[in-house]
Amino acid sequence: MYQMEMSITVGILALQGAFYEHIQLLKQAAANSTTENDTPTPQWEFIEVRTPQELDRCDALILPGGESTTISLVAARSNLLEPLRDFVKVHRRPTWGTCAGLILLAESANRTKKGGQELIGGLDVRVNRNHFGRQTESFQAPLDLPFLNSPEQDQPSFPAVFIRAPVVEKILPHEEGIQTSELQRDETVVAPSKHAKDQAARDAMATQVEVLATLPGRAAKLASEGRNIDADKETGDIIAVRQGNVFGTSFHPELTGDARIHSWWLRQVEESVKRRKQLEQR
Ligand code: GLN
Repeated sequence: MYQMEMSITVGILALQGAFYEHIQLLKQAAANSTTENDTPTPQWEFIEVRTPQELDRCDALILPGGESTTISLVAARSNLLEPLRDFVKVHRRPTWGTCAGLILLAESANRTKKGGQELIGGLDVRVNRNHFGRQTESFQAPLDLPFLNSPEQDQPSFPAVFIRAPVVEKILPHEEGIQTSELQRDETVVAPSKHAKDQAARDAMATQVEVLATLPGRAAKLASEGRNIDADKETGDIIAVRQGNVFGTSFHPELTGDARIHSWWLRQVEESVKRRKQLEQR
């Protein structure tokens, strides 16, 4: 049984990209969480992951922003690609991907380069890489993130940073194996199939992808410029999704000083690790 204190190891894939920044915000989030209530908080350990042995120690994982092609290439060379797929899809451990990390977690992605791109998968979505344009078209947008708000708190918007960011362009029907309809598409790369290992993994999986946040899209922008467009009917671009234990954001919370999403995610991780440990003890 979970009693006094539980220790939880969170890995940050540190092959390329903004891993250091994630660690700083995780530390900030963990420090804040001790004062929030009087239930014992877990003993958090945050480690950089570069080898399968380091991955083995992790209860949860972050895939940072960076360049998804490079990350997948280095992961393959470090013999980490299959262990990462097992971590996310066979064991279904809590995983969060930001930007390039979200691309890697998609079951399907529009390919923008020839070859070189391999996906981990875990989220039944198709992403469009670089949807928001090039590096010079990077932008920051204040986002309303309903999942962060507790009913009694009206929180300020979240400063979301978008850099060559992907969008979730399609939520795919859940399939037990590979996304076969996606295989038919040209210029699309699809993650290989893997199956949840045991009850704990199946419990941590959901067949539905939840949309957690959208960014007002083109019609809303045109309407804000005074054009006569009915923007109310527009849902906008999908920029945050969750499917059971797997969470993805198009933007980079690690590049802000705001640790609210990291705090929220650590609470999800804690719940998930508790559930897994209870199941393992049965
Ligand atoms: N568009 C980049 C890619 O394809 C991701 C950009 C980012 O992580 N900032 O990997």
